[in-house]
Formats: sequence, C-alpha cells, structure tokens
Amino acid sequence: MSIPTFKNYIAGEWVGASDGNTIENINPATGEVIGYFASATVEDTRRAIAAAKEALPKWAAMPGPSRGAILDKASQLIAARTEELAETLTREEGKTLAEARAEVIRARDIFKYYAGEGFRAGGDVIPASTSETLLFTKREPLGVVAIITPWNFPIAIPAWKIAPALAYGNTVVFKPASLVPHTAVKLVEILLEAGLPPGVINLVIGSGSAVGNALAESKEIAGLSFTGSYAVGLKIYEKTARNLVRTQLEMGGKNPTIVLNDADLALAVEIAVRGGFGLTGQACTATSRVIVEEGIADAFASALAEAARNLKVGSGLESGVQMGPAVSAEQLHTDLDYIQIGKQEGARLLAGGAPIESPAGFFIQPTVFDDVQPEMRIAQEEIFGPVIGIIRARDFDDAIAKANAIGFGLSASIVTNDLRKAMRFADRIEAGVVKVNEPTTGVALQAPFGGFKGSSANTFKEQGRAAMEFYTRTKTVYVKYG
Ligand code: NAP
Ligand code: MG
Repeated sequence: MSIPTFKNYIAGEWVGASDGNTIENINPATGEVIGYFASATVEDTRRAIAAAKEALPKWAAMPGPSRGAILDKASQLIAARTEELAETLTREEGKTLAEARAEVIRARDIFKYYAGEGFRAGGDVIPASTSETLLFTKREPLGVVAIITPWNFPIAIPAWKIAPALAYGNTVVFKPASLVPHTAVKLVEILLEAGLPPGVINLVIGSGSAVGNALAESKEIAGLSFTGSYAVGLKIYEKTARNLVRTQLEMGGKNPTIVLNDADLALAVEIAVRGGFGLTGQACTATSRVIVEEGIADAFASALAEAARNLKVGSGLESGVQMGPAVSAEQLHTDLDYIQIGKQEGARLLAGGAPIESPAGFFIQPTVFDDVQPEMRIAQEEIFGPVIGIIRARDFDDAIAKANAIGFGLSASIVTNDLRKAMRFADRIEAGVVKVNEPTTGVALQAPFGGFKGSSANTFKEQGRAAMEFYTRTKTVYVKYG
C-alpha cells in the first residue's frame, strides 16, 4: 500500500517544502509509517509569516461576531468528525482512544467558547480627570502570532492557542510538533472549510531548528505562544526578547500530589493512577511525585503498586486498554534511563520498571518508586513518562516543604478531608493550578491556565478570558467633547 503524503498550508495554498524534504510520521503502537509530511524550510517559514502579515488588516477589521461565526462553524465540524479525529490522534500520538476522544471534544468546546468571545471582547470606560471627556480603552489584535506546540496534546493545545488568536483578530503561523503533524493538517483543513480566509492561518510543519527557530528570530511577528520543554522555551525567549516580541511560554512540570493521613485510601490511589499513568504520564500536569504522610504511606505504596501492575497497557486503538505506548523510541529511552537513574540513586522500585516486549511499539510498564528523596534527579527532573516517585513526609508542613522544593510549579493536588489543611495547601503551594481531591491533570477550558517558577515565562495565562490579555493590545483613547 502506498503511504500518503501531506503538505503545508502557506499563503492560501497547500504546498510541499521548497526543498522537497519530508518528515516521517510513525504510529508508536506499531511502528507503521502513517505518512510523509512536508518539512518546511526557513524560506517557507518566512513566506508564511509574510502571508499572515498581508492577511492581517482585513481579518483584524472584520467584526468580532463574524470571526466568531467561523470559529463556531469549526466547532461544529470538529463535532461531526470527532471519531475520525480521535483515531488520527491515537494513531500518531499513542494515547488511548478514550483519551483522544476527550481531547477532541475539548477542542470542539474551545472553538465554541472563543466563538462567543467574538461577541464579548472589548475595553473599559474609565472616569476622566477633566469634564466632558470620554476616556476609554479598546482592545486591538496583537498582530501576526506564531504558535509552537508540543506533541502530547496534538489538537487541544493548538486549539487553545489558535482559537483565541483568531477570535481576537490576529493572523497565525502554526508550527505543530514534528511527531504529530497529521492532526494539525486536519485541524487546518477544518478551519478552511469553516470559512477562514486565505493567509489568516498558515501551517508550517518542520523541524524546531529550522521552522521553530525562524519564528523565534522573526522581527515580523508580534507575539509567540509556545508550549513545550523548559530547554527549548528558554532558547526561544532569548530570541524573542531581542525583538520585543510578546512571548508566552508554558513548559514542564514535576507535579506533586500530597496524600494526608486522613485521606480516603482508594480515592488517593485512583487520583495518583489517573494523574501519573493517564496519557502514559505524558502530560505537563502529570503527577510524578506523590508526597505521602507517614501514617498512610505503607498502605498507600502497596495499593498504588498493585494498581500499577493491574493496568492494561497496549495499543490505544484496542478496547479495554488503559495506557498507550510512549510517543517515540526516544521518549521510551528517556523513561528507561530515568528508571536506571532512580535505582542508582537508591529509590526502591515497587512496580514496573521495564519495557513491554512488543514487535514494534514503544511500550513501558507503569512504574512506582518508593523512598524517593526530594533531591534525587527522579524527584527533580521532568521524565514525561509513567513513573511515579513516592516521597514520604513527617507531617503536613514537611509535605508542603517537599512539594515546593523544586524549580517547577505547574500543577499540584492534595487528597484530604481536612478543609483547613486543604485551604492552607492552596495558600502555600507554589503552583499555578491547585486541586483538592482531584488529580494534578485535567483543567477547565474556561479558567486561566499556566504555571509558576520554571514552568512558565510567568507573563500571560492561557485559556478562558485570560487569553485575551495575550492576544490583544490595549489602546487608551481620550475624547474631549466639551
Ligand atoms: P519540545 O521538544 O520543547 O518541543 C515543543 C515544540 O518546540 C515543538 O514544536 C518543537 O519542534 C519546537 N522546537 C524544538 N526546538 C526548537 C527551537 N530551537 N526553536 C523553536 N522551536 C523549537 O517539547 P515536546 O517534547 O514536544 O513536548 C513535551 C514538553 O512539553 C514537556 O516538557 C511538557 O511538560 C511540555 N508541555 C507543557 C505544557 C504546559 O501547558 N505547561 C503542556 C504540554 C506539554 P519539533 O517537534 O520539530 O522538535
Ligand atoms: Mg507519530
């Protein structure tokens, strides 16, 4: 059977790379090649930026409700294609079909939400200091925005950046992660079918070093929104700062769940399993540290280890499978390397720790370490795989101190029935997302999202109305009519 090829969308046309190069997209559950995707050059990227610039004035001038109508149509098209999109996503990223479906539904709702923003975005009227003066602010689009996304949420993250960018009148150059270009192609097709004019969105699949870097270095963009690793985020920031390009970076995490002595044991285990092994542990908000108060620690550790052993791992397309493969051979190696490091550091392996033999897929066992110390590398560095480290704590204060003894601060949760401790946790934890009796994963699309410390550039939040702050600029207008 011949393997299909896919193009980029630049300046209103589907085009191959100008040097003819392609990226091979692989199914991590089978090793099969899904397709060859045009790999844009620096020159192609510049053309995409120029096209977005040319399309900007007309798109920015369109009434918000008219832009919103296109996003609403896109939401409906995603809804109609939910199953197909979920399957495409699972095939190229590996998560289970149920997880992929939930992600597609989320993208559908994100477009619906920002379709409504077309009716709402606006400014403020401010009391003037002189009489007969109208003083007000208006929100304008920022301009051309570059959007660089990771592979772990192939449709939700592009959606939560692209939808507000378009709703508030910006034009877009979209660079998806090289591991998941197929979902990106389909998303752009849907936006075009919904009626987006040529040039308003441009798709540039290609390497981080060519396409991503060309976007970061561009003087022609007004904003850059990036989600990905800390190392890459930092490199981008150094470049965008030179051109005063407004920059949003959402990066890694090392998210803790604290389990207090009074917690419901079954609930605590369920929360750790969902947060740590859901999405194969490949979420920025995944639980990788469980900090457990001494009185419940033994019971919790053995129950979590048993739950880990009982999880069904396999191809995300098979029914009954609870955890899919690692996204790539490289990610699988990283996971296994960290498991070796954990053993060498003296952590105690309670469950998992090995790859799962398979003819071609990148499968790994859900893994639990006990007796992890806060300063160990497996407690400090993002692994991005299904590996949970249990850190034991003397009491509540010790648990909070250990949770905060880290350079990241994306998400954190606590399992307890003690309202006072839950609220003190919310006061004292250094994280942008705080959950009580819920996993560290899973956030509402209508609420602000973003991390503290090394998890973020700490500039602008994403999602909900908070996205307006990033994707618009404010003009202050004084009108003296007296
Ligand atoms: P990554 O390696 O940092 O890549 C992210 C994106 O940046 C990809 O599109 C990548 O392109 C591109 N890129 C790579 N090098 C670049 C460069 N020099 N200049 C500009 N762009 C460049 O991250 P990933 O492996 O895809 O995703 C996993 C990471 O994302 C984890 O650290 C995770 O915590 C983080 N994440 C954070 C959030 C959040 O909201 N905080 C959400 C999800 C994931 P290529 O694919 O072509 O390399
Ligand atoms: Mg793939």
